[in-house]
Amino acid sequence: PPSIRRINEKHDKVFVTGCLEPQVNGPRANAAFVVLARNKELDGVIQSIKSIERHFNRWFHYPYVFLNDGDFNSTFKETVLNYTSAPVEWGKIGPEHWGFPDWVDEKVAKEGIAKQGDAAIMYGGMESYHHMCRFYSGFFYKHELLQKYEWYWRLEPEIKYFCDITYDPFIHMEREGKTYGFTIAVKELKETVPNIFRYASAYKRMNNLTSKGLWEMFIEKPEEEKPMDLPKEDPKYKKPLPEEILKSEPGTGALPEIDPESMEGETYNMCHFWSNFEIARLDWFRSKEYNAFFEMMDRSGGFWNERWGDAPIHSLAAGALLSPRDIHYFRDFGYRHTTIQHCPANAPARQLPRIPFLEITTLDEKERLEEDEYWATPDPVKENGVGCRCK
Ligand code: GDP
Ligand code: MN
Repeated sequence: PPSIRRINEKHDKVFVTGCLEPQVNGPRANAAFVVLARNKELDGVIQSIKSIERHFNRWFHYPYVFLNDGDFNSTFKETVLNYTSAPVEWGKIGPEHWGFPDWVDEKVAKEGIAKQGDAAIMYGGMESYHHMCRFYSGFFYKHELLQKYEWYWRLEPEIKYFCDITYDPFIHMEREGKTYGFTIAVKELKETVPNIFRYASAYKRMNNLTSKGLWEMFIEKPEEEKPMDLPKEDPKYKKPLPEEILKSEPGTGALPEIDPESMEGETYNMCHFWSNFEIARLDWFRSKEYNAFFEMMDRSGGFWNERWGDAPIHSLAAGALLSPRDIHYFRDFGYRHTTIQHCPANAPARQLPRIPFLEITTLDEKERLEEDEYWATPDPVKENGVGCRCK
């Protein structure tokens, strides 16, 4: 049987212990679910709505904002309305927030995308996926329908919540001064983001940002990777990007040639918050700092020449701008998206070694579960208020 793990919470505690009687008439936050989808994803969308309604929103009635780069058809709209009594708004995403900006040479960008397809990079050859990632990186929070909201909860097709959520996560995040909440942190596919970290760390350096303690979550631990006294000439120590590239005006959208020996001193460990679930403050995304970050990343062309996901973009921005106490780990939410799930009973073991604001000690340090077991162990563990069943 799996060992029981003890969570030592440093800057971030589970908000609520055990099941409550949901406060159906309690205070509400200024918040909405945000669902980006296409008409053909209706079945998956209904699955997700059924799940979130059953486990949370039947008590709390938060509104939904549906977004699409096309038009939702009447079947889609009518079907969705059959599964919730909460308010629903339908939004169209304009070309200013979706697709190639005018400073990009479309032909070059499309060739770059085709190459990623040839290289069998996951979703690399799919142009719409690149647009989606860029939209969720730098534009969703600018959509007119979201302007009135302070908070959002991202919902994707084909997800599942296993546990009743009997408290209001927005209200608790507000109360605790949190900015960004996640349930799952995983490793990115390297080939989708070969240069993302060069730009993210250059942003940090150029703005003289020193780590507030979260950045370390995203770098390979030096003691794991290299001896402490490694000389600076070692090729593993890599030079920063030249300033003139970083400061260049929006141009071709082509990444500069990479000198294989030129990289920042730190190395990205590929860890990121899995952004298909997210509860976050919109004003953080709307901040000058976040947008400066996005614009610099965007100008590099990495959304086309590579297949940067919005998850590592959000995560590295958080690493550069936020501190561990701004982040909330929803360790008590049972959540599944396609093949990866978080079960309150077991997933902490999978994630915690990389997360600086949580320390985990296991009763038997040597006992290491196989990855599948981390994600699939069904026994709930009644500990620290984390104890619902993953069903
Ligand atoms: P995955 O979770 O990374 O496998 O990617 P998904 O296919 O689930 O896409 C992520 C989110 O973006 C989902 O909410 C999709 O419905 C949405 N999405 C992806 N591509 C498009 C697109 O071209 N148009 C629209 N409207 N939504 C999209
Ligand atoms: Mn998805």
